[in-house]
Amino acid sequence: MNKKELEEALIFPQGEKNPYGAYFTGQSYLEGMIADKDLPFGVGNVTFEPGCRNHWHIHKDGYQVLLVTAGEGWYQEEGKAAQLLHAGDTIVTHAGVKHWHGATKDSWFSHVAITAGEAVWLEEFLMDNMKISVNKKLFPNIQQNRTIKRKSSSFIR
Ligand code: MN
Repeated sequence: MNKKELEEALIFPQGEKNPYGAYFTGQSYLEGMIADKDLPFGVGNVTFEPGCRNHWHIHKDGYQVLLVTAGEGWYQEEGKAAQLLHAGDTIVTHAGVKHWHGATKDSWFSHVAITAGEAVWLEEFLMDNMKISVNKKLFPNIQQNRTIKRKSSSFIR
């Protein structure tokens, strides 16, 4: 999905350049949607340029729900295959689970994030030996749980 297509698909504002950019590889944008002191979570819209992704992190003493709204992206928990994400997909990350999320190499990507607890940022994710998991109904010709070996400086997809 290119920039124009993403802007047309977005339901919530794209927002400004992400102030947490130090914890991302590539450019992302953040629109704070809900920050209510009487609620135990915040809601934000996060948009990633193609190839942009966040560093490994955990949501300490909390959780995160991702609602994918546009484009094509990845979600991966440590030790598991990365999941290819499209609009309508949902992800739940429980407390303490190390993971990262972001756009595929060639597509813009946007998700709403509902987040509680403290984000603890860890090392940058490198695309070495990335295992991907794909929906066989949508992509019948892609080998399940394949491992893609690339130089760390390159992205997959
Ligand atoms: Mn997260």
